[in-house]
Amino acid sequence: MVTLGCSKNIYDSEVLMGQLKASNKDVAHEQEGNIVVINTCGFIDNAKEESINTILSFAEQKEQGRIDKLFVTGCLSERYKPDLEAEIPNVDAYFGTTDLPLLLKALGADYRHELLGERLTTTPKNYAYLKISEGCDRPCSFCAIPLMRGAHRSKPIEDLLDEAAGLAKNGVKELILIAQDSTYYGLDIYKERRLADLLRALAQVEGVEWIRLHYAFPSGFPEDVLDVIAQEPKVCSYIDIPLQHIADHILKSMRRGTTQEKTTALLKRFRAAVPDMAIRTSLILGYPGETEEDFELLKSWVQEMRFERLGCFQYSHEENTHAYNLKDDVPPDVKQARVNELMAIQAQISWEKNQELIGKTLRCVIDRKEGNYFVGRTEFDSPDVDNEVWVDATKHYLKVGDFTELTITAAQDFDLHAVPAN
Ligand code: SF4
Repeated sequence: MVTLGCSKNIYDSEVLMGQLKASNKDVAHEQEGNIVVINTCGFIDNAKEESINTILSFAEQKEQGRIDKLFVTGCLSERYKPDLEAEIPNVDAYFGTTDLPLLLKALGADYRHELLGERLTTTPKNYAYLKISEGCDRPCSFCAIPLMRGAHRSKPIEDLLDEAAGLAKNGVKELILIAQDSTYYGLDIYKERRLADLLRALAQVEGVEWIRLHYAFPSGFPEDVLDVIAQEPKVCSYIDIPLQHIADHILKSMRRGTTQEKTTALLKRFRAAVPDMAIRTSLILGYPGETEEDFELLKSWVQEMRFERLGCFQYSHEENTHAYNLKDDVPPDVKQARVNELMAIQAQISWEKNQELIGKTLRCVIDRKEGNYFVGRTEFDSPDVDNEVWVDATKHYLKVGDFTELTITAAQDFDLHAVPAN
């Protein structure tokens, strides 16, 4: 099993592997196998390129007889199946994002509904992704995800609680909630936003110690979620809320349903409701019509908001999206220069915020041992995207997977160094 793209693809690969294992298939993630299944990403140019190159490299291995069968699934396959079948025919079959039973059949396995929520997790044992819904009903102009993942479908709370209990039984202590838009949770099946209820219910699941919220959406944000984050110790003081931009005419063109004023006011309510909360966001640079003035506004706004965590992407001109009708008028080198400049600003903000942690003792989880270091995270950090805490393993022993109190001794832009608290 080869997985490209986001945590939702990791989740889908884990579900597929769980089904294969239940059919006594010998399956492994990112390791040698004579049958290869690639779970592709079709989000933006770079991701599409990586997916195509991965397909081509395995197609070549098949040509050389080094693998027997090659199957492709996931977002790129969903979006471009006819083109892929024509241009890279040396693949046994292409599947879409909702073709799990068909793919299993092609692999000689049967889809088992009773396994709902069970999967072969690929993350370190102490944490797992929990996909609370699929698809998206939002009209964001630049985004192809609804084309690949369909309309929003929430999972019933009971199913998610069963899934969480199953994960906790297997030693998972941290649940990372993922979706295309987690704040939309419940609007389809319960006709109301039920994310706060879901968070409270998950906090009752025995064995779960941390619950982390990703992919929130600014407009229509259910503010009862802030109460849960403030009151429920198991719900991390952390929120990931991609905001994409702040200039009003860009937000309007992006069809984000919000404005600079509303977004800034929302963030101020976040700060007031949960003062120690780490806010992660992501921004798109170089959207059609973005002027130097817009970029200056974005920079000064980022310096004012001082996000704890921030990521930037270059705008990618995606066919069949609403923005594709616009002129992709910001040159690639300007897009890249704006990404670099904004990340340099963020590195400075992150460095300054990390200095304030020196001498503080924080509850951390140890994810792995790497060389002479144990590597962990605070509750303000999500795996793979945020800061990490490094502990010298030649001087201290820690148990991977455990929570432990660490005292911060030094801090860089995106990394902390620590020793076990006395
Ligand atoms: S919320 Fe917007 S950006 Fe996110 S998946 Fe939905 S359409 Fe795409």
